Amino acid sequence: MMPEILFLLLPVAALSGWLMARASYKKKADKKTACAYEPAYYKGLNFLLNEQPDKAIDVFIDLLEVDSETVETHLALGSLFRKRGEVDRAIRIHQNLIARPSLGQEQRANALLELGQDYMNAGLFDRAENLFTELYETGKLQKKALENLKEIYQQEKVWDKCLTVVKQLESYTGKSYSDETAHYNCELAELSFKTGEISHAAEFIKKAKQSSPDSVRALLMEARLEESQQHIKKALKLYQQIIETDHMFVSEILPGLINCYRQKGSLEELQNYLGSLFQRTHDTAVLEQLVAAVTQGQGIKAAMDYLVTQLAEYPSLKGLQLLHQLKSDNPSLQAVDVASVLGNIIEVELSQRPAYACRRCGYEAKTLHWQCPGCRSWGTIKPALDHES
Ligand SMILES: [Zn+2]
Repeated sequence: MMPEILFLLLPVAALSGWLMARASYKKKADKKTACAYEPAYYKGLNFLLNEQPDKAIDVFIDLLEVDSETVETHLALGSLFRKRGEVDRAIRIHQNLIARPSLGQEQRANALLELGQDYMNAGLFDRAENLFTELYETGKLQKKALENLKEIYQQEKVWDKCLTVVKQLESYTGKSYSDETAHYNCELAELSFKTGEISHAAEFIKKAKQSSPDSVRALLMEARLEESQQHIKKALKLYQQIIETDHMFVSEILPGLINCYRQKGSLEELQNYLGSLFQRTHDTAVLEQLVAAVTQGQGIKAAMDYLVTQLAEYPSLKGLQLLHQLKSDNPSLQAVDVASVLGNIIEVELSQRPAYACRRCGYEAKTLHWQCPGCRSWGTIKPALDHES
């Protein structure tokens, strides 16, 4: 409880100090005004002394007068409240600021930006949108206004507005927003697919590719569209292009790619392509399809031999599971030498296991630490036991 109160008192302390200085200054300058707010000031102080900092803060906020000297204080205080999650107070301070007709253009822009961010934090996106639009039109802080508008439209999934905003951002900053532009167009294409407007979808995909020619998402959407329209050659080329661009997506591509080769009726080409793909990626999903293709072409015995050879070179648990599956599906087959494959895989698996683990937080380590780097506890890291992983 105590530390919490101390934390709450921080802005109060700053405020009361400032008010006090101001009160004495005002006494010299204008005795009447100083007297006018003194009772409220002591009321606030009273709340403070009675450990009611929340009420004290509210009283002090109301006491703060806005003039050209205190705008910075208001802005700092408002953003402090927002950062502490007290959005209501932040909103009150910033609204109070904006209501002042005497505010300079620069200061008004800053206050609009702050209030907009308050509204966003409070989830009031409509209000935030209006404010940032107003801010943009003032001609000040335009980049910040646009970035916040982009954030709002993304959250609300209004993709055409996102596109407009990034275009403005591009011309304003000179920076490229091509990745975002591609994704927004892909989102629009997906919406068109859902409502069955295929030609619209194709248009959006085209736009996505124009802004980002290597966009995996746009290429994948285009490939699937071509495949669904039986343009097999074109689809196949696109699938291959995606793999060239980023082979991490290989498992997303495989079903479409394989379907295209089958539609073409060229099993040998499929085998060759998958073979070279596996050499490059060592991806078990590719290996699985490769084994299926070999089974179809040369029979199950050849497929199993092929799998054993590959596993000897690139051991993996998934590959072993595949081998086991093939064996149990084909019990009549001569036994293959699984033992050596298994030995390799166990060796690789064990070498990847951590030798030590923290009993408190689960931190895994290759060497013994007496203090856990994860949870900072002493003596909680111990040698890992076999059955644990
Ligand atoms: Zn730990």
